[in-house]
Amino acid sequence: MICLTLAEPTLERAKEKVQKNREYIDLCELRLDYLDEKEQKMASHFPSMVDLPVILTFRRVQDGGHTQISEKSRRAILFQALDGDFSYVDIEEDVKKSEIEDKAREKGIRIIRSLHDFEKIPDDIFSKIFHMAEKGDIAKVAVTPRSFLDVLTLFRAEEELKGVEKIVIGMGEYGVCTRILYKRLGSLLTFASDEEVAPGQISAHKLKVEYMADQVNERTAIYGIIGNPVMHSASPLLHNRGFHAINFNAIYVPFLVDNVRSFFMFAEYFKMRGFSVTVPFKVDVLSYLGNVTREVKQIGSCNTVVRVPGMWKGINTDYYGFIKPIMNDIESGRIKNALVIGAGGASQAIVWALRNYGVKVTILNRTLSRAENIARLNLCDYDSIENASSYSGSVDLIVQTTSVGLYPDVNQNPIEGFKFTGSEIVYDIIYKPRMTKLLEEAGKAGCTLHFGSEMLIEQGKLQFEAFTGYHYPRWVDPGL
Ligand code: NAP
Repeated sequence: MICLTLAEPTLERAKEKVQKNREYIDLCELRLDYLDEKEQKMASHFPSMVDLPVILTFRRVQDGGHTQISEKSRRAILFQALDGDFSYVDIEEDVKKSEIEDKAREKGIRIIRSLHDFEKIPDDIFSKIFHMAEKGDIAKVAVTPRSFLDVLTLFRAEEELKGVEKIVIGMGEYGVCTRILYKRLGSLLTFASDEEVAPGQISAHKLKVEYMADQVNERTAIYGIIGNPVMHSASPLLHNRGFHAINFNAIYVPFLVDNVRSFFMFAEYFKMRGFSVTVPFKVDVLSYLGNVTREVKQIGSCNTVVRVPGMWKGINTDYYGFIKPIMNDIESGRIKNALVIGAGGASQAIVWALRNYGVKVTILNRTLSRAENIARLNLCDYDSIENASSYSGSVDLIVQTTSVGLYPDVNQNPIEGFKFTGSEIVYDIIYKPRMTKLLEEAGKAGCTLHFGSEMLIEQGKLQFEAFTGYHYPRWVDPGL
C-alpha cells in the first residue's frame, strides 16, 4: 500500500492533498502535529471527509514531530481524535499501556507500534521489531542507514521476520531504495509525500506511476543504478518506462552507494541480473567482474554490469551511446578531426570511440596532465583549455565533456568567446539543461547541434537490451 503523509495546517487542506493524490494512494496518515491547534480538536471528523483508510499520528518532536507540546496534552488530543473512524493509530514503542491503547483496541483500530532513530540502525533491530509486534500490533521502524551495508541489513528484515506484520523504513538518501522496494522488505506500506515530511520520502506519483512500487512481487527482477550522488539520475525513468511498456516484471531503482563491495553483496542476495554504474564507481567495479568487453578493457571504465553464467560481466554503453548520433557524419567523412573539451571519465570513452573510427583528436583540459594521459593512451594531441580559441576554424567536431554549464550553473561555458564558423558539429554531453550556453552560442553561429540527452538515451537503450534481451520499445518516450 502507498500511504500519503498529510502535513497540513487544516483538515480541509489535508483533504485537498488526498484528492490531488487520490489515484496514487491506498491510505493516508493524518499528522496531528502539523495541524493548527483548533483543527486538532476536530480531527475525529477527518476519516468521514475522505474515502480511504486513515492512520492517526501525533508525532513527538524527538521522533521528527512538528509541534512542541506537553506529553499530557498530546495524549489528550490523540484520545479525543480517536472518536473518529480511523483505521490505524500510531503509538510510539516506549509509550506504556495507556488509555489511548485501550480505546483503540475497544474500537478495533489497529495499533502501529513505532520506533524512530535519526542517527543509525539500532543493533538489535530485528528483536525490537519482533517484540513490538508481539501483541498483534503492526511494528514500524523508521531508522537511518549510514552506509549501504546498513541498507542491506534492513533488506534482511523479511527473511529474519517472516510472517511478522511490519513497516521497515530506511530514512535519508541511503534509505530511498527501501521506500521504493518496500514490498521486498516485507513492509505493509510505504509512506509518500509531496514535500518530504521525513528524510528521503518521495512523491506518491513517483512511487505509483514511475516505479509501480505496489506491483512488485517476489518474482520482480531488481535492476538499478549505483552512484554517489545518484538521486538526480534520469535512468530510472527510462528503464521503468521500458519495462512497463513490454510488461517485463522488473523495477529499476537508484541506489546511493558508499562502497561497491556491499552493493555486490546486495546484488547476489537479490539475484540481480544487472545494474548501471555512474560516478564515482565506473573504475571500482572492474575488480568484481569476471568478464569485460573489449571497450571496457581499453577505456578502463564500465557503466553497465550484467550477470552471465557464474560471473558478472562489464560493458561500456557510453561508448556506443556517444557515437551513434554522429555515426553517419563519421562514416560519410564529414567528421575527420575533433576537439574534445575535458579529460574526465566521459572524455576517456569518447576519445577512444573517436579514435577507433579514425578521427583525429585534440583534447583540451584545465588540468593538462589528465589530457596528456588520455592523449598518450589514444595517440592524439592535447593542449590547455585556455588555448581553445586557437583551434577556431580548424575542426569539424567539438565535443564538450566537462561539467561546466551543468545545472544549476547554466550560464557557464568552458570555452567562452570561442569563434564558431558555423560549419562545425557541436556536441555537448551535459543533458541538464538540454540547451547549454555553449550549444546556444554554437546554434546562433549556424552549427549543427547534438545534445547530451541523445547520448544518454542511446546508452540507456543499449543497457536495456543487455538487461532484458529486448530492444527498447520504439513507441515509448524515455522521458528525457
Ligand atoms: P569527471 O570525470 O569528474 O570530469 C570532469 C571534467 O570537467 C574534467 O575534465 C574537469 O577538468 C572538467 N572541469 C570541471 N570543472 C571545471 C571548470 N571549472 N573549468 C574547466 N574544467 C572543469 O566527470 P565525467 O564523468 O567525465 O562527466 C562530465 C560531464 O559529462 C558531467 O556533466 C556528466 O553529467 C556528463 N555525462 C553525460 C553523459 C551522457 O550520457 N550524456 C554520460 C557521462 C557523463 P579537470 O581535469 O581540470 O578537473
